[in-house]
Amino acid sequence: MPRFLIVGAPGAGKGTHAGSIADRYHVPAISTGAMFRSEIASGSDLGKQIDALVSSGQLVSDDLTNQVVKSRLAQPDCITGWLLDGYPRTVDQVKFLDGILDDTKAKLTAVIMLDVPSDEVIKRLIKRAQIEGRADDTPDVIKHRQEVYEAQTAPVIAEYEARGLVVHVDGSGTIEQSADNLMEALDGLKV
Ligand code: ADP
Repeated sequence: MPRFLIVGAPGAGKGTHAGSIADRYHVPAISTGAMFRSEIASGSDLGKQIDALVSSGQLVSDDLTNQVVKSRLAQPDCITGWLLDGYPRTVDQVKFLDGILDDTKAKLTAVIMLDVPSDEVIKRLIKRAQIEGRADDTPDVIKHRQEVYEAQTAPVIAEYEARGLVVHVDGSGTIEQSADNLMEALDGLKV
């Protein structure tokens, strides 16, 4: 059963490519960032608390994020597999996901790592800010998100590397080029 993670720096193109992986394997693409943005858009009290963190480039707490993911993975559309985009982002979240997988005797298929040089991701985020106007795409917040990524999420990738699960995909260049690289990498997997 296909159970994928897609990881990479903010701006690496996780959201862009998540859809094509999900289509290929007929599984839902689950983005914690998108779930948080929709909670913020609902205007709820919880959304307001999340907004304060997301718009300043900080991570939402592990407890809240873990619970959101756990209840999403319990939905019926996840029975045949899933793709997680933007989770886990901390070592604590890795352990929590390990627990969910163990409970159902499930295993990860692969961790797709989109490799993009840091100067290129920053250029992309600045461009996205002009087009989409995301509150967390201002220069200071972009810089902070990259720092948080290095400090908190690089160890997550190291952990999955140690487990032999990481599949590197060159995510630099155009969307078409990286989409081709991704499909080629997926062709090489046994799913
Ligand atoms: P990007 O990868 O470009 O930073 P995302 O949409 O994945 O964009 O995430 C946007 C923001 O949502 C993050 O900066 C963070 O504040 C919050 N967020 C998303 N996923 C997580 C997570 N797994 N743990 C904690 N916070 C998260």
